[in-house]
Amino acid sequence: MSKRDYYEVLGLERNATAEEIKKSYRRLARKYHPDVNKEPDAANKFKEVKEAYEVLSDDQKRAQYDRFGHAGAQSQGFGGFGADDFGGFSDIFDMFFGGGGRRDPNAPRQGNDLQYTMTLTFEEAIFGKEADISIPSDENCHTCKGNGAKPGTKPETCKNCHGTGQLNIEQNTPFGRVVNKRVCHYCSGTGKEIKEKCPTCHGKGTVKKQKKIHIKIPAGIDDGQQIRVAGKGEAGINGGPPGDLYVVVQVRQHEFFQRDGDDIYCDMPITFAQAALGDEIEVPTVHGKVKLKIPAGIQTGKTFRLRGKGVPNVRGYGHGDQNVRIRVVTPTNLSERQKELLREFNELSGNDPADESEESFFSRVKRAFKND
Ligand SMILES: [Zn+2]
Ligand SMILES: [Zn+2]
Repeated sequence: MSKRDYYEVLGLERNATAEEIKKSYRRLARKYHPDVNKEPDAANKFKEVKEAYEVLSDDQKRAQYDRFGHAGAQSQGFGGFGADDFGGFSDIFDMFFGGGGRRDPNAPRQGNDLQYTMTLTFEEAIFGKEADISIPSDENCHTCKGNGAKPGTKPETCKNCHGTGQLNIEQNTPFGRVVNKRVCHYCSGTGKEIKEKCPTCHGKGTVKKQKKIHIKIPAGIDDGQQIRVAGKGEAGINGGPPGDLYVVVQVRQHEFFQRDGDDIYCDMPITFAQAALGDEIEVPTVHGKVKLKIPAGIQTGKTFRLRGKGVPNVRGYGHGDQNVRIRVVTPTNLSERQKELLREFNELSGNDPADESEESFFSRVKRAFKND
């Protein structure tokens, strides 16, 4: 579920020219435009393509993205994208479909989707979290009920385009008369003319508000995954449904645990005496301490699996495991007495670290010297 590389989305090399980016965008946008493509995934694909194009077609954003990846392109924290963009797109769309694509400016449209990035600790991602977040959002203006006109007045139909929001521009060309549709500059395509603007929203019909939303992050979510909160995006246009809110999760690293999917990994240091003699040790897990029996003669790198001590699967399919990798630590800062004992130990083992039960790494090393 993590975000795809923008170049990959557009099927381009990283050194693609502006012309190539534009070409590829047009081709893919046409392929996935929700008016044409009825596949359930098309709208998401379209958004992905649109988002990639928005970044890569802007020199500054592209440079940011090349240096810092997705984090760089979204350094403002919020990225708004959504239904409104489909409208702006129809200029290009018209070129392919002979002008039929422009929408009725008065038709209800879904509000823009919002994106919010939430940073979680390692444990919060594992056990889930509930939080109230505050996001800036366009809400319908209460003073004018969203129509942008001063209370007591009404928006009038634009005289320039007769409410269609577009103008037919006729041109004589060597091939005959061509009719092009253009956005009405008089009403910016809204089809309406507001004589006296609403004092609260200055004719926009919407106001920026901080909106508080209660978010439930499910246990087991992982870095880069997102959750969709339906209907919590921006207000709909002309009475259309609101957009959705997408909460993108970033998970901080832990100083002891690493995570790979539902499994957790850790390195467990033990002393060389514990390694030689065996012991029962306590291992931290995110679910609390667990006792682990270390057999005598264990080596660095041996891994034990603690079943079910990993991450609860975000879709509810059980738990992952914790994998404990043993690391034998060579002692430092020895006292005189300790050194003495170790020298004695060394004498007894005849300077040979070889394990008697199996041919050890050391005996192979020794043989290699003899072959010289
Ligand atoms: Zn107009
Ligand atoms: Zn207003």
